[in-house]
Amino acid sequence: AGDSKDYDREVETVCPYCGVGCQISLKVKDDKILYAEGIDGPANENRLCVKGRFGFDYIHHPHRLTKPLIRREDAPAKGLNVEPGNWHEFFREATWDEALDAAANGLAKLRDDDGRRVAGFGSAKCSNEEAYLFQKMIRQGFGHNNVDHCTRLCHASSVAALMENVGSGAVTATFNEIENADVAIAIGCNPIENHPVAATYFKQFTKRGGKLIVMDPRGQGMKRFASHMLQFRAGSDVSMLNAIMNVIVEENLYDQQYIEAFTENWTAMKEHLKGFPPEEMEKICGIPAETLRDVARTFATAKSAMIFWGMGVSQHIHGTDNSRCLIALALMCGQVGRPGSGLHPLRGQNNVQGASDAGLIPMFLPDYQSVTDDGVRSAFTDVWKSGDFSNEKGLTVVEIMDAIHDGQIKGMYILGENPAMSDPDVDHARDALAKLEHLVVQDIFLTETANYADVILPSSAWYEKTGTVTNTNRQVQMGRPAVPSPGDAKEDWWIEVELAKRLGLDWNYTHPKEVFAEMKLNMKSFDNITWDRLETTAVTYPSLSPEDPGQPIVFGDGFPRSEGRARFAPASVIPPAEFPDEEYPFILITGRQLEHWHTGSMTRRASVLDAVEPEANCSLHPRTLRELGVAPGDYIKLSTRRGTVTVMARADRAVAEKNVFLPFAYVEAAANILTNSALDPYGKIPEFKFSAVRVEKAELL
Ligand code: SF4
Repeated sequence: AGDSKDYDREVETVCPYCGVGCQISLKVKDDKILYAEGIDGPANENRLCVKGRFGFDYIHHPHRLTKPLIRREDAPAKGLNVEPGNWHEFFREATWDEALDAAANGLAKLRDDDGRRVAGFGSAKCSNEEAYLFQKMIRQGFGHNNVDHCTRLCHASSVAALMENVGSGAVTATFNEIENADVAIAIGCNPIENHPVAATYFKQFTKRGGKLIVMDPRGQGMKRFASHMLQFRAGSDVSMLNAIMNVIVEENLYDQQYIEAFTENWTAMKEHLKGFPPEEMEKICGIPAETLRDVARTFATAKSAMIFWGMGVSQHIHGTDNSRCLIALALMCGQVGRPGSGLHPLRGQNNVQGASDAGLIPMFLPDYQSVTDDGVRSAFTDVWKSGDFSNEKGLTVVEIMDAIHDGQIKGMYILGENPAMSDPDVDHARDALAKLEHLVVQDIFLTETANYADVILPSSAWYEKTGTVTNTNRQVQMGRPAVPSPGDAKEDWWIEVELAKRLGLDWNYTHPKEVFAEMKLNMKSFDNITWDRLETTAVTYPSLSPEDPGQPIVFGDGFPRSEGRARFAPASVIPPAEFPDEEYPFILITGRQLEHWHTGSMTRRASVLDAVEPEANCSLHPRTLRELGVAPGDYIKLSTRRGTVTVMARADRAVAEKNVFLPFAYVEAAANILTNSALDPYGKIPEFKFSAVRVEKAELL
């Protein structure tokens, strides 16, 4: 940190990166952010990780989009790499009026044929108000529900399981509740790298004697703090978790009273678990039966216990089943709804919880109200003062790409998402984007997706705008602008409103607080939460009165399901969509690393973060590297049935032998060229966490 004399103003807002939602103070001089400090937010209590502290200067990067752009008629083919140095060969600068007219006219022309020809991807990097407006535009303006965002690529399967069995898609307790727990399971998550400030609470919990059970196919930093480290075989989660629950049943360690009072389907669950004895499951998951027994006893006899999970659980074709197991484990031990207990899927993006709550998903309107319910739709169209829209669930992220290939979808509006990097089997997605007749991209940089755009709309970065966000803890917080937007860039809500007007919608919002007020009309989760309150404090939903700071723990007296009961959903073993074989003998696991965020568009332009991790890399066990004749620092070729990338190899004992871990932030070795687009049937999430891969030493020229 610098000297207080260094800056001429400070602005309190929320970090733009992960779902922890740390509150941050930005010190600004001459409209430049000089440095950042953590402040006393409910989720971070003055702490920040390296991304929050040092990852802010991407907003001042010379690559920022500052003018609306329209594709030139004589432009080369779509998909060629548009860069800051050559963009004028592809695009010409335009006024806002010209660009908005071009964007709206292209979409309206397709709508004249059929509203279903247009789909939209909104963003978990935008505010709640912007997410709400985006889904409203697709539903009101095009008459259907083909609207989705990156939740489909992270926790859609967790939400599917939670909605099915608990009746709510959000966490039942904040992560800070771990301070009241005796035992915690962290499975398929790597908080030290991905939720670093949450990880500090986990470490404190172990320091005061809490038992942390870490379950992950990859070793990780939390191992040092764990009472148990279960490095199970990738893809064997359901077998392992069912074996643990089998022990709890066999040894009568479950909470009969809780089960009788608050759950249903227990008899079927008990019967199902008989098929998963630990001695048999040991052969599948690789964890000794005695360890499974010990973990079962530790969890089931805890006074209070929590379960945390991440994308290692959700990004499988059996992601929903993985979450069903975790929910069942908590329910059978009565570990929901009390201090120090609960279910907590650690949300990824800073506003993926809020964007999902705001209805940026194809099956639900705001507050997870079903689009198939006539009463729900009419409640919204009453507020919107417009006619009905489709009662059919819309298509999801990967399904939309398939529908473009099939010719059903011909135009897209993509705000702050980068499917040309983030979708599985990304060459398939890029081919789809190239086929679109009209693509409007709204972003802060020329992303890989912008290579395919017809119109590019330059938007404000998070630190340049006003709006609310909701973190993984259900805490709603206010984001405030610290610096002006560069050039002609505008806040996303303003662009959405101007585009909607040109699509014939009667939108007259002049400030995000008017959008927030409209959201409250049909979102009970925002009861007792007002814009004015959020100007002064964060509020956790549900908030029971205008003075209540919100409820960190929910469902102590029953669940929002029929008769107030949660449900046990027995999960059977579904194998990964493809297995290693002679041609592709290794397992590829993709994920994040501490310094880089998702597709890298922000952090690779943040000078400190990029200096620490400047080059695409992947990690393998040193023995595996030796067998391949590869030294750390050599380049290797990774090939799957979808494609090949070349990347620098690192040695890492945390990675299991015959496994490869590849971060997905690097365009020059785009992990999603390799990944499989096979989907979980319930959450429709792709299997990013398991692909069969071949590894060879690369012959560099
Ligand atoms: Fe930002 Fe997440 Fe780091 Fe907090 S933990 S500073 S929210 S990236």
